[in-house]
Amino acid sequence: MKINLQPIEKLDRQPGEYLDVHSMFYTLQGEGPFCGTPAVFIRLAGCNLQCPGCDTDYTSTRKRVAVGTMPMLVAQQCGRPGTLVVITGGEPFRQNLAPLFKVLTEAGHYVQVETNGTLPPSPWPYADDIGKRRGVYVVCSPKTGRINPGTHEAACCYKYVMEQGNMHAQDGLPMTALRHTAVPYVARPAPGSKKPVYLQPMDSQDPEQNERNRRAVVASALQHGYIVQLQVHKLLGLE
Ligand code: SF4
Repeated sequence: MKINLQPIEKLDRQPGEYLDVHSMFYTLQGEGPFCGTPAVFIRLAGCNLQCPGCDTDYTSTRKRVAVGTMPMLVAQQCGRPGTLVVITGGEPFRQNLAPLFKVLTEAGHYVQVETNGTLPPSPWPYADDIGKRRGVYVVCSPKTGRINPGTHEAACCYKYVMEQGNMHAQDGLPMTALRHTAVPYVARPAPGSKKPVYLQPMDSQDPEQNERNRRAVVASALQHGYIVQLQVHKLLGLE
């Protein structure tokens, strides 16, 4: 497996009127609460972590984009009103996203942010009613042993990718994520949380191991009540 060697980038303390964008594209959201929904993705540049197993390119291209132009850029990807806009990375909360949330929601879109949970979320009244599809939703996919307390509050759900042999015996969640170190293991939802937990089998690039990963995820979900998801975009050959 190729090891991720993209550089670690620190918190950007700019006010958020310009953002470092890696790429924008229109596809299906393949994971999480809005799985299967057509969405414009905004991939922001840079990450504060360097998970060895991460296969996402978030540094090779980078453009400083004025946030005021983002609704027009989203419309160029998909002109339908009320579109899902997924903000991913890298780590999106490395940059201040409040101005972006403002222009996108004022343009009538709803927004999902994918975070590793380590940095404080930009100040915003985050939504948690997934059925409404209105406002800004935070999906936390932890990679280290700690989640920022603000992320626990903001998150509408949690997402884990699991490989057979890497499962905690008691709670059925992974011990590590994308091979990042996590002490004592990758962070869990807040104690007593009733927020949905999505569990996906890891694509280990090996059919036999993938079958074991799928079986482990199903067994864990049946025992603990997690929601099983497949990475639909990968099954469909999409980005
Ligand atoms: S936090 Fe996410 S984007 Fe950053 S290195 Fe880990 S998997 Fe990749």
